[in-house]
Amino acid sequence: MSRQDPAPIAARAAAVKSALLDKGLLNTETVDHIVHLGADEWKPENGARVVARAWTDPDFRARLLDDGTAACAELGYEGPQGEYIVAIEDTPDRHNVIVCTQCSCTAWPVIGLPTDWYKSPEYRARVVREPRPVLRELGLELPTDVAIRVWETSAETRYMVIPLRPAGTESWTEEQLSRLVTREALIGTALALPACG
Ligand code: FE
Repeated sequence: MSRQDPAPIAARAAAVKSALLDKGLLNTETVDHIVHLGADEWKPENGARVVARAWTDPDFRARLLDDGTAACAELGYEGPQGEYIVAIEDTPDRHNVIVCTQCSCTAWPVIGLPTDWYKSPEYRARVVREPRPVLRELGLELPTDVAIRVWETSAETRYMVIPLRPAGTESWTEEQLSRLVTREALIGTALALPACG
């Protein structure tokens, strides 16, 4: 490696962490706590449970649409990057998809940390310009009479999608329903899984 080459990401991260610890701007407990949250607590299964509750409890659905942050906190999903959750609901004639064109914002407590494809410059640039082809490439072919709305999530507004409840699930429990909701469904690049799936 020449002196001009940037250090590998892990080495740079370690150097920044070391400098912050040395200056007393960070402590190891905080770092360990954030790492624990990212690895073990922030996951799309949380958002799936929120969606399943909204599908089965009309009062909760209304609260979720009115104040996503408070409604998610009812189920224990709150904390960093979960302060401004806004839930947007798919309808038979409008599909919603979210993106952060500036960086990679997600509502960490209910969607989890962003995945590589969500962070990619290609997804961020293209989904706002040509959402229908991008969704098709990701495996979601929507009928042409279904409108697509793209939402720009940001530090101040962390969106989550409430996908349509699959047909044939009328008698399903909240637990069963939650298994139909993936990270991609919460972002809007997929539908909730079909009942037969
Ligand atoms: Fe961002």
